Amino acid sequence: MSTLVQLSRKAKPLPHTGSGCNRTIWSRKGDAQIKLRSANGKLADRSKGELVHQTATGVQTCPQSCPFLGNGCYGENGRVGLQINDRLEHGTSARSAAIGEAACIDEAPATTRDGRPIHMRLHVRGDTLAQWVPIVAGAVSRYVERSGFERNGARLVWGYTHVLDVDRATWGPDISILASVQRAREIQQARDRGFAAAIVVNDVPSARGFHDESTGEFILPCPVQSGRATSCISCGLCLRDNFLFDNGITIAFSAHGATRKVRDALKGNTK
Ligand code: SF4
Repeated sequence: MSTLVQLSRKAKPLPHTGSGCNRTIWSRKGDAQIKLRSANGKLADRSKGELVHQTATGVQTCPQSCPFLGNGCYGENGRVGLQINDRLEHGTSARSAAIGEAACIDEAPATTRDGRPIHMRLHVRGDTLAQWVPIVAGAVSRYVERSGFERNGARLVWGYTHVLDVDRATWGPDISILASVQRAREIQQARDRGFAAAIVVNDVPSARGFHDESTGEFILPCPVQSGRATSCISCGLCLRDNFLFDNGITIAFSAHGATRKVRDALKGNTK
């Protein structure tokens, strides 16, 4: 068969499980997935019918430097872990999972039937190692392009990364992505790489925000966790990393998931 005929052949759709709102598209190797139109109680604004696609990959995509890796990460344990652990650990490489995640994003519908762009939360589990970021960021840009979404400060796609050796610019302008840090002194290091930061903390002294005692950094507890917002879509802070960066705001998450292990990891007791 000639190369031209091969190229013109339509790619086979990726395998999926479920149907309708519960449909999940899997990468061919089973090392990445996108759950379509998830009604996840924290991310989606169900009252307005704003559902959210969410991607996940195996832990081979996570940096070894993450203190929560194998150590209480909610993606390995809580609801997320229970749902997807079995199928995502296929022993493939971080590059394969990044390619798989990009393919899943390329397969996802970018708008609702009535033409509204659909938000996407990248990596409810997993991450993207520095050298493979352009693969996933490229798929995000194609997704935003397909959706017709106009950047108005907030982004259509958002996520967090624990990867330390990547600059914000590598992720490009079509995603809002925050650097996850464990210690307040790491906030400035994230900022030096161009990122706004999110920090996991054991205690939140004030739901309205507080200044870290040692660094003076302004830290704002996640409004859903503190009961001041009902969903990420209605809150929107993490969808505006430029705003957080420009205003020196760091989002704080209370330790959740396997709490004792996470609290130990935060104290530096385990790694
Ligand atoms: S700060 Fe807002 S957008 Fe970020 S995780 Fe919390 S509710 Fe979601």
